[in-house]
Amino acid sequence: MPELPEVQTVLDGLSEVLTNRVLTGLECYYPGTVIVDPLLPDEAFPARVKETIRRGKYMILHLDSGAGLIIHLRMTGKLVYEPDPREPHKHERARILLEGGDAVRFIDPRTFGKITLFASANLSRFMPALGPEPLSKAFDAQYLSGLIAHRSAPIKNLLLDQRIVAGLGNIYVCELLYRARVQPQREGRKVSAPEIRRIVNHTKDVLQEALEVGGTSISDYRRIDDKSGEFQHFLRVYQKLECPKGHPLGNLRLGGRSSFYCPVCQK
Ligand SMILES: [Zn+2]
Repeated sequence: MPELPEVQTVLDGLSEVLTNRVLTGLECYYPGTVIVDPLLPDEAFPARVKETIRRGKYMILHLDSGAGLIIHLRMTGKLVYEPDPREPHKHERARILLEGGDAVRFIDPRTFGKITLFASANLSRFMPALGPEPLSKAFDAQYLSGLIAHRSAPIKNLLLDQRIVAGLGNIYVCELLYRARVQPQREGRKVSAPEIRRIVNHTKDVLQEALEVGGTSISDYRRIDDKSGEFQHFLRVYQKLECPKGHPLGNLRLGGRSSFYCPVCQK
């Protein structure tokens, strides 16, 4: 599932492709993939992209027509730019049309992804409540400790909660907890102050490192030019059998997801 580094990489690619291009429409090939704001201005298209923003795992495109797009890739969604594309692919759920016949295909085998077409003024109605960005100053040890100090949920589940911090998913939470030397099932309230500081610092480090190499390509995630990210080569525990020190890894189901951790390195 694309997490912050993958979504940012896709958005950077999308912004580059759409610069100075006129968007002429949005086609939907699968019921429910495209959500349209009832208050959408009639003249949503043609339009140019005025601003692009990533918030958590959401991409937000503001158009100069007063409309906007929220793109949420969810589990298997990907965007692929294609000059002069033909018939929709088997798993193509929607398509952003560009002047001149080019398009950005939204390909999503599992169909959980969504594109919302909204009137810019209504953005907040279509966005869920999200915690701070993990790479922002607002996400610090004091903030995190305030939110988890009384929680008995596993620390991993708390970090996956987008209302606490926006943009983390299974891969980076496994990785950052390994680096922070904290086991994923530890209750939030039992995580010590030094451990919280390590969690915050390693969250920022692992995301920054992944951003620098275009994210992690394990299953469906691809950049907009359909190339892979490279961070899968730097993972220490996710989908591994041993930690870098050679200890056999444990694997727990938490929040419905596999949690890879080292019972020796992590306490
Ligand atoms: Zn280990």
